[in-house]
Amino acid sequence: MKGRSLRFRMMLLFCMVVGGLLLSTYGIIYSIFARELRLQLDRRLGEAAGPMVADLQANAPEEDVFRLDLPDQYLELLDWSGKPLNMSRNWREHPIDVGVLDFPEDLPVFRTVRSANGPLRMELIPFELVHQPVVLAIAGPTRDIDIVLAHFRSVLMILLPVSLLLTAAISTWYVGRSLSPIAELTEHAARLTQAISQPGQVDLKTPRLVSNSHDELGHLASTFNELFARIVAVFQQLRQFVSNASHELRTPLSVLQGETELLLSERRDPAEYQKALEVIHGELRHLSRIVEGLFTLSMADAGQLRIANDALYVNEVLEEACEIAVPLARSKGISIDQHLQPEIESTGDESFLRDLFLIFLENAVKYSPPNTQIKVHLTRVNGSARVQFEDQGTGISSEHLPHIFERFYRGTGSDSVEARSGGLGLAIAQAIANAHGGKIECETAPGRGSTFTVILPLTARAV
Ligand code: ADP
Repeated sequence: MKGRSLRFRMMLLFCMVVGGLLLSTYGIIYSIFARELRLQLDRRLGEAAGPMVADLQANAPEEDVFRLDLPDQYLELLDWSGKPLNMSRNWREHPIDVGVLDFPEDLPVFRTVRSANGPLRMELIPFELVHQPVVLAIAGPTRDIDIVLAHFRSVLMILLPVSLLLTAAISTWYVGRSLSPIAELTEHAARLTQAISQPGQVDLKTPRLVSNSHDELGHLASTFNELFARIVAVFQQLRQFVSNASHELRTPLSVLQGETELLLSERRDPAEYQKALEVIHGELRHLSRIVEGLFTLSMADAGQLRIANDALYVNEVLEEACEIAVPLARSKGISIDQHLQPEIESTGDESFLRDLFLIFLENAVKYSPPNTQIKVHLTRVNGSARVQFEDQGTGISSEHLPHIFERFYRGTGSDSVEARSGGLGLAIAQAIANAHGGKIECETAPGRGSTFTVILPLTARAV
């Protein structure tokens, strides 16, 4: 039974329950019907016996009634000890054992007896005949009742298997229909597993909706659909991430390889070594930035980004970040104008917040033409610190805007050497802002500039 399908087991259970119910219902109907037929026969015997007893009492010692020769009516008169006094001809020809004469409360008794002509229903009526207690036995065959009951039984014997077959067919259809979402889910899950284990061979698509029903299975199906869609999305993201990461790492690694191969191919003068080492150093810094960024993101994904809960002034942290960015900005003739509201107190991680502000400042410098201006605003709005970085740079086209916070995503204008932060900057910024309970907004006008706004809740230090 364990190896059988759920469909089969449910169908079997259904049939067993319905079969049991049908059997007991048919049994009850049969016994009520049989009892009613017997009661009718008893009533008929009583109706026939009443006038006979009256006739015997009225015409004693004449006992003409025993001369009546009705084929289906057996009569006998007995004394109280059971000795026959008179009987009808058919009784004489086929003697019948009346059994023990016992009359509780002097009332007539009924019993079923066997005779040479088949089973008989018999009524024994005690009464007094000329001051002597006597018993009149009147019996009739149960043949008609038995025929009706046998007929009824054979109808039931046909009805029961037919009803069971019908139940099995309906339950198989119904259970199959109800379980079809599970079968479809299983098929989708199998396809998904195959797509994940054999990438490239099977198309990794979001499975279609398997059921529209509003019952429990329908809900299960739509929940699984969401799960499948999520798995597919995560898997695709993962694939994209791996391909982007390897692409991003391949460039500095091939530069490093080229430089070292060049250095090793022949003896060089110190100036050449110096130049090559500078290139190598730059690429190594780039690589370690990517690796550090990936580490930060993986910690954030795991919810393990260790964010300190120190008391700090947001304006001071922002000032420090601007100071760090000034040399970079100056190298492009870009000025950083600060409009910072003083004494904005909060709690958080100073080092992470500085990194967060630096990402926007560096991006603003990277994506702005020389001799432009970057404006930094800090204000307190409704219990939050609102930090704005406004540049006069390239802006971001609507095609790129929805993706700029994705890992390794790079829009236009990011191919220059100075833009090589690995495409992780905004993803890290978002992770840091989220870890501080904040959010980032972006307004941009292609060709005119962008404004990134960081909103950080000003939380008091927990004591
Ligand atoms: P990266 O700068 O290394 O490419 P980021 O994650 O910091 O990676 O930025 C993602 C993309 O967003 C950039 O490639 C760029 O196209 C766009 N971007 C970010 N900041 C700016 C900005 N201030 N002006 C214009 N484009 C920007």
